[in-house]
Amino acid sequence: MTDVAVVGGGLGGCMAALTAVRDGAESVRVVAPSPERYRHETGLIDVLGYVPDRETPVVRLSFEMRRLPDDHPYNLVGAKVVDEALETFDDLFVADDGLPYERGQSDRNALFGTATGSVRPTSRYPESVSAGLLSDDRPVRLVGFEQLTHLGATLVGDRLAESVPYDVAATSVDFPMTPSEYPPVVEFARALDRNEETADGTPIREALANEIRPELDVEPRVGVPAVLGLEESEAVRSELETDLQAEVFEIPIGRPNLPGMRLGRRLFEVLEAEGVIVDEGAPVVGVETAGERIENVSIAEDGTETEDTEQVRADTYVLATGGLAAGGIEADREGVSERVFDCHVPHPDGRENWTEAEPLGDHPFVEFGVNVDGELRPCGPDGTPEYDNLRAVGRVIGGRDFVAEQSTGGVAISTGYAAALSALRDES
Ligand SMILES: Cc1cc2nc3c(=O)[nH]c(=O)nc-3n(C[C@H](O)[C@H](O)[C@H](O)COP(=O)(O)OP(=O)(O)OC[C@H]3O[C@@H](n4cnc5c(N)ncnc54)[C@H](O)[C@@H]3O)c2cc1C
Repeated sequence: MTDVAVVGGGLGGCMAALTAVRDGAESVRVVAPSPERYRHETGLIDVLGYVPDRETPVVRLSFEMRRLPDDHPYNLVGAKVVDEALETFDDLFVADDGLPYERGQSDRNALFGTATGSVRPTSRYPESVSAGLLSDDRPVRLVGFEQLTHLGATLVGDRLAESVPYDVAATSVDFPMTPSEYPPVVEFARALDRNEETADGTPIREALANEIRPELDVEPRVGVPAVLGLEESEAVRSELETDLQAEVFEIPIGRPNLPGMRLGRRLFEVLEAEGVIVDEGAPVVGVETAGERIENVSIAEDGTETEDTEQVRADTYVLATGGLAAGGIEADREGVSERVFDCHVPHPDGRENWTEAEPLGDHPFVEFGVNVDGELRPCGPDGTPEYDNLRAVGRVIGGRDFVAEQSTGGVAISTGYAAALSALRDES
């Protein structure tokens, strides 16, 4: 028997599992796909980037969070819990553990230039991107790699130059190895991790510095696509900085996204170190309930339920399967459903009412997800909890466009933390 079973290993599920094990649960199990799924993520943690009817990014986070509607997840869990949850996240990503994160000063968002040349706010960010902050007005040299179309450095430079307060110069160089796959992001990173020798015998970190150095003029900061190592990223970047005598920062570039992969690896490392059992690559395929309680869930590596399928029996369950994109919510001809426990998902009747004619309109589907009460229990159409021992966290919760308000990371962290505390309170 497990105390807490978490279904889904994204940011929300990992935070729920970690909080549960740290707060006294004797056995915690995460049923999750591989941490490699984090390859889709930028590694930036957005807490609140925008509020409705305002085009400029949020500056003071807690001030704006308090002004969100009462049923927003931040207000359901409360400001104190949000602060504690974010502090817990911050404590996981410190220099000693090889993946330091930083945060905007004094409760403020930080602003970055992106690989598309736009400017975006974020709350927590890996140290590897921090020398690219917009609050720094020193000139920047962007250096793209010919083998990567992800960062057309000169194009990005031209776009960024229009919106940033510093001088931007841009160039492309050859990354000093011939890749065998496309995009060669992970291949480049692994070669840098191992400091492999290039064709002429030069270690690749030194060879990369040799490519970039002639391009530098007066710029004290150099931005490169985020390929600087997966396991040794801080060492790779630091060596490059010493060789170039300039600060080096990474620009997240889309899939695969190394900063997101590093984040996933670190989270899974922490879970395992703290004694959480992780069933990697085994989705939940069946559920048994009795009255208003979940009795067990069945997991199967090949995704098919048979008589021999393993059952996970727990006192309490956390639903952390994500939204439409991650497969936690499904929309088909029959309607919109939550895929594991079949919780109620409010949605307009008729598929034609799920979208708006305008591509950039307010599409109802972006808010699809379960409704939760103050304890984060999914609720039925009458507003009462569907199961006593189930909580929902992160993107599977609906009712808001978390992507537009740029709060997905903060909501996952806060609700994951709060759900675990609430579940343990109930079971004690
Ligand atoms: C391309 C992309 C870029 C992003 N960029 C950012 C960003 O820059 N900043 C930011 O703050 N957030 C970003 N996010 C969002 C963020 O990473 C998370 O999606 C968000 O934090 C929600 O987390 P979650 O834990 O609720 O769900 P998810 O992270 O979506 O994780 C849900 C997990 O549950 C798994 N799952 C689904 N069904 C089952 C099942 N039956 N059994 C077991 N497991 C199941 C899914 O495979 C998935 O791994 C991005 C997301 C994507 C997709």
